[in-house]
Amino acid sequence: MALNKLYLMSWMLFLTQIGVSCELKSEVQSTQVKKRFGKKGLKKRKAPVKKVRATIKHKKILEKSSEHYEGKSQSPIDLGNAFKVDLTDIKFRYEPSLFAIKNTGHSIQLDSKSKKSYIVVDGMKYRLIQFHFHTPSEHTVNNRSCAMEIHFVHQNEKGNLAVIGVLAQEGAHNKFYQSFLKTIPKKEGAVIELSEPLNLLKLFPKDKRFFRYNGSLTTEPFTEGVKWIVIKQPIQLAKIQIDSLIHVHGKNARAIQSRNHRPVLFDTTINAPSSN
Ligand SMILES: [Zn+2]
Repeated sequence: MALNKLYLMSWMLFLTQIGVSCELKSEVQSTQVKKRFGKKGLKKRKAPVKKVRATIKHKKILEKSSEHYEGKSQSPIDLGNAFKVDLTDIKFRYEPSLFAIKNTGHSIQLDSKSKKSYIVVDGMKYRLIQFHFHTPSEHTVNNRSCAMEIHFVHQNEKGNLAVIGVLAQEGAHNKFYQSFLKTIPKKEGAVIELSEPLNLLKLFPKDKRFFRYNGSLTTEPFTEGVKWIVIKQPIQLAKIQIDSLIHVHGKNARAIQSRNHRPVLFDTTINAPSSN
């Protein structure tokens, strides 16, 4: 095998190492690695790789990916093989606010009453309009899925969407999640107004390094042009907390869609701020 080909394959394998500690959905990928390289080949993945800073070029890659693949930029996707770059952090301007919790039949959704919370992505302000839940997670990382994924849906003045995905795995009981879990309406179409404001940053992990790509809504009408930000570090919820949601709306994750050569970027920033 030519040396440059081997180097390229090692590089590609290194990129697949960005993972989350959720359930392994498929062993296919790791089996293929062993077949191709044996034990020696696996060690090659640890070769030092030069990190690159996000440049205008990287930003253009993201922009182009939504233009070039119209009709083929669907979500969710597997986030493996991400390019590691130092992206500009997402600025969180969330404040405790009131929500109305509703059972849509497909999901449990909490609509913002004030719409005062927002994020800043690529220098643009996107207001939080609602958040909802998927069981199991819709996005996977190297074919690993998590028990749940929470989608925080934001919209800018032009009506464009930026969605943040927070993954959740089985683990410790989450007190904050429990505070509104008890109010979940069991009947389809039912809405309950929460009387206490929620500080949603409590539903985010401390480490907010994230994946970025351009995709679509994962429910009808599957509109494209959605900026996706999926945080790599999962939060923890007790099994009973996850099961109680499955009990209400069943499993509601859309199947993984074809990536169609769309690039996925992974932010390498170590100390991502929580609310700055
Ligand atoms: Zn969703």
